[in-house]
Amino acid sequence: MADWNWWPRFHDPALRLSLREQVVLHVEANVRMLRDWRACWTFTWISLLPVPLLLALPYLIVHGWDGHPAASLAVAGLAFLAYMLLQHVAFAVAMRRTYVRFVRLSLASLGHPACVECGHPLGPKPPASCPECGSALGESR
Ligand SMILES: [Zn+2]
Repeated sequence: MADWNWWPRFHDPALRLSLREQVVLHVEANVRMLRDWRACWTFTWISLLPVPLLLALPYLIVHGWDGHPAASLAVAGLAFLAYMLLQHVAFAVAMRRTYVRFVRLSLASLGHPACVECGHPLGPKPPASCPECGSALGESR
C-alpha cells in the first residue's frame, strides 16, 4: 500500500463491520498472530524501540540541565512527549508490519476475503492476483 497513515488500514473502508464482527475479527487475528512467533518477535522489538528514551527520564530529571530543576523538568517533559510520539509511531509501524496481515487473513472467515498486501476486497471467487496491487493471492485464501 503506497499511502501511509498514522493508523494502519486493515481493509477497504467501504466494508462496514458491526462491532461484534470487529471483535470476532480482531480476536481471530490475535490468535493467528500469537501462533506465529516471528510476527510476535517483530511486533515486540519494534514496539520496544522507544523504551530507552522512557528509561532515560529519571536521569534527565536529575541531570537534565546542569542543576536547574525547572529546566531539568522541562527537558524531561519534552523527552516524555517525544517518547509518547515515538511510541505511537513504533506501535503503528509494528502493527503495519505484522498484525495487519493477520487481520486481512481473518477477514475471509467473516465472508469478506481480502488481499493480504493491500486489503482490497476480493469477492467470493478471488482471482490469481490482486486487481488493486497485483500481488499473488495464493496465501490469502
Ligand atoms: Zn492487493
